[in-house]
Amino acid sequence: MGSFGGGAQSKPHAVCLPHPTQGHITPMLNVAKVLHARGFDVTFVNTEYNQARLVRTRGAAAVAGVPGFRFATIPDGLPPSDVPSLCKSVMETCLGPFRRLLAELNDSAAGHPPVTCIVSDVVMGFSIDAAKELGIPYVQLWTASAISFLGYAHYRLLIDRGLAPLKDVEQLTNGFLDTPVGDVPGLRNMRFRDFPSFIRTTDPDEFMVHYMLKETGRSADASAVILNTFDELEGEAVAAMESLGLARKVYTLGPLPLLAREDQPTARSSISLSLWKEQECLRWLDGRDPGSVVYVNFGSITVMTNEQLVEFACGLANSGRPFLWIIRRDLVKGDTTVLPPEFLAATADRGLMASWCTQQEVLDHPAVGAFMTHSGWNSTLEAMCGGVPVISWPFFADQYTNCRYQCTEWGVGMEIDSNVRRDAVTILITELMDGEQGKQMGRKAREWRDKAIEAAKPGGASHRNFDDLVRDVLLSKI
Ligand code: UDP
Repeated sequence: MGSFGGGAQSKPHAVCLPHPTQGHITPMLNVAKVLHARGFDVTFVNTEYNQARLVRTRGAAAVAGVPGFRFATIPDGLPPSDVPSLCKSVMETCLGPFRRLLAELNDSAAGHPPVTCIVSDVVMGFSIDAAKELGIPYVQLWTASAISFLGYAHYRLLIDRGLAPLKDVEQLTNGFLDTPVGDVPGLRNMRFRDFPSFIRTTDPDEFMVHYMLKETGRSADASAVILNTFDELEGEAVAAMESLGLARKVYTLGPLPLLAREDQPTARSSISLSLWKEQECLRWLDGRDPGSVVYVNFGSITVMTNEQLVEFACGLANSGRPFLWIIRRDLVKGDTTVLPPEFLAATADRGLMASWCTQQEVLDHPAVGAFMTHSGWNSTLEAMCGGVPVISWPFFADQYTNCRYQCTEWGVGMEIDSNVRRDAVTILITELMDGEQGKQMGRKAREWRDKAIEAAKPGGASHRNFDDLVRDVLLSKI
């Protein structure tokens, strides 16, 4: 499918609405690119704050769009300070401006085809009201794993079983978090600590618990839910989402970076919505032996104390391995980042530190042998696409669920204690790079890479699912 007859006005037009954080923007952009490649007119909606930040970081050309692919903005209601306040503000602010944007896009004087479908982030669920008003197909993208969707949806089950909210804060440290929670439909071997972390609270009114229950609860009303995953990896959880009535129909389209890469180079393929400016790291990797480098990156939101940073630094130094470490300018809470001079002296010839990189390219580089990660879902999948095993240091939300599966179900990772200590960092790096268990994990990671490639290539399950989604849902009213 590549073009539609009848001129520009009769093309299908998808409005893509991501949540305004990096881990949500990137997968939605991949969906938007594939839709554009398949003949859709696309409007990609950024918040005003992010759009201005993109212009500052990448220049005005970054959001200029290409023919049939434009950027539009709505306000988020505040400059982002933390995840809960951004979620709350977006929920309260965005519906009105989004309705007005749709009306503008549908104005025949605007010169675009009328909007024929909406692809919205699950956590931008207010948009379902706007879709209903227009009577057009409404698809939700869940940018995290299927297992984490179930983890959030099963908050209800933890509450009903009397496990949540926590009775007191001692339960955070007295071993309660490690107790198995019993049978959980669609999930395996879950302990309390493996659920998305917002549930670790004594507050029955905790905003994020109720917010996630509400947002995941609305997915059942969407025409379909699309996931950045593939059947071999998460088929069981995906089937449970449907059989439990959490979604009418689920389409697995992942890994989206591979599906989007199928596209030949075009103007649209060069669109990048990275909110940070990348630094060049690939040439440094070129000079390293295959599989020798530890790549360390905790994503776009994780923060840590300077003490934790120093433990990671000393652990890396003591491992004796070359490393590429991405330290975002806002990675360390409070004061500025201070690394010990001994660390800098000891690792000058074998460590590269940068503030942001093109992560998928780094993970695809043959020099990278291990990935120390927070197990955000994009990073989890990108590691699999690169065939790289992981050391996981989950920070919050769904990262605990992903980490559990990386370590116990998918065989690609080892977990590092949240109270990170330098010796543990060194031991795990050595085990992952040299030990028998580590080699086994490397083999498993490469097997997943092959399965991921298989799913995303023409004729593969995710590729076919995209075709089915377009035909059966997005174009169903045309
Ligand atoms: N990312 C990147 N360069 C970096 C750090 C992160 O390109 O230096 C990208 C990464 O490839 C991924 C996204 O930012 O696509 C982070 O999403 P993820 O779900 O892993 O974690 P989050 O940032 O949402 O916690």
